[in-house]
Amino acid sequence: VKKNTISKLIITSNNQIFNIIIRKTSRSNNISLRFNKKYSHFQLTAPNYASRGDIIKFINDSKPLIDDFLLKKSDGLKKITLEDGILLKIFDEEYILQTVASNKQNPTLAKSLIILCGSATFARSASLKLQAMLLEYASNQLAVIMQAPELASLKISPQIKLRKAQSRFGSCQPQTGRIMLSSYLIFAPKSVIDSVLFHEVAHLVHHNHSKDFWQLLSSLDPNYRLSKMWLKSHQSELFKYSL
Ligand SMILES: [Zn+2]
Repeated sequence: VKKNTISKLIITSNNQIFNIIIRKTSRSNNISLRFNKKYSHFQLTAPNYASRGDIIKFINDSKPLIDDFLLKKSDGLKKITLEDGILLKIFDEEYILQTVASNKQNPTLAKSLIILCGSATFARSASLKLQAMLLEYASNQLAVIMQAPELASLKISPQIKLRKAQSRFGSCQPQTGRIMLSSYLIFAPKSVIDSVLFHEVAHLVHHNHSKDFWQLLSSLDPNYRLSKMWLKSHQSELFKYSL
């Protein structure tokens, strides 16, 4: 195994400077980047044949992910409470959460979402409302998705359940047809929610990540890579609020 290391500096958009240690090896076939907690630097592994240009392109392409990672790291686990007057993105569009009483204030371009409750239960009512909106949207989309000719042979009619999951955005039980979605997807664009649904529905046919699975997924959802990228680079924004 031939190894060599080069040090390189990167500057993220927050003007934080981090070292990237580049390691070339004959053992890997792709470029990967991970953060080394102990030494507080990034470690990039690349195949021997990767050129300097390939590596620089990879680092530039990874910038949104790096920024998101660093933001998450600096923010820690601080969560924003859903309270009256808060501005947030629902389906990636700006909204203000308000009670009926406060509805007349806050002149802004954002749409407002009225939460019916007393102030003591605002966060709880807002969370329930957001989850209901996601469930309604996803259930309707699922019905549309199930019309695809590729899924005609499926015997089960899938059902959606929401979970306040931060480890994964979707999962499914092929035996029961139950599809679990993370409630935090309410803050994502609808196209991204669709992609998570397509992924899980494709698992009802192929219970693994085989070649057949990816083939089915690309025919159902040709843009799935874009959604995956979006989710990766916006994770910490989605998990910012306590639901
Ligand atoms: Zn999968």
